Amino acid sequence: MKNYKFCPYCGNPSKKQKEFFKCTKCGKKVFMNSHPTASAFIVENGKYIISKRAIEPKKGTYDVIGGFLNNGEHPEAGIIREFKEETGLTIKIIDLLGVYMDKYEYQGDLVSTLNFCYIAEIVKGKAKPQDDVASLYWFQISNTPENLAFTWIKKALKDLRGWYQKNN
Ligand SMILES: [Zn+2]
Repeated sequence: MKNYKFCPYCGNPSKKQKEFFKCTKCGKKVFMNSHPTASAFIVENGKYIISKRAIEPKKGTYDVIGGFLNNGEHPEAGIIREFKEETGLTIKIIDLLGVYMDKYEYQGDLVSTLNFCYIAEIVKGKAKPQDDVASLYWFQISNTPENLAFTWIKKALKDLRGWYQKNN
């Protein structure tokens, strides 16, 4: 979790925080919520799309396409934006696969993530890796790659197999 050394409102030095930060001087609170992300799998002909990360953290590992949500952004809008940025594809959401908890190392802190994962289909475009994606792969639905960027993806891939069996 993030740990503020000073109150972001009044600058008073602070102690270690747990669920939230509360300043002992000005009394203001800062929520320490998990950070929301949105991701999606496209499934076509028994295969799903996954990317290889171009940047740290976890450069070179397999990762779902997606990313952190902007302030006030709905996860469905977030994943449509991320897909466009990372693959050039315009997508349409078909289903919510699940919501997964995980941890993410960021600027020296271990922060909690709240990951919304969708199933989507391609509306238009040709997949081309860009932004923080190095390359794109189509894997058989039965194939879970070693070297996944984040623990929650393994659980999501298991759920994806279940979803595929039910819907095909
Ligand atoms: Zn303060």
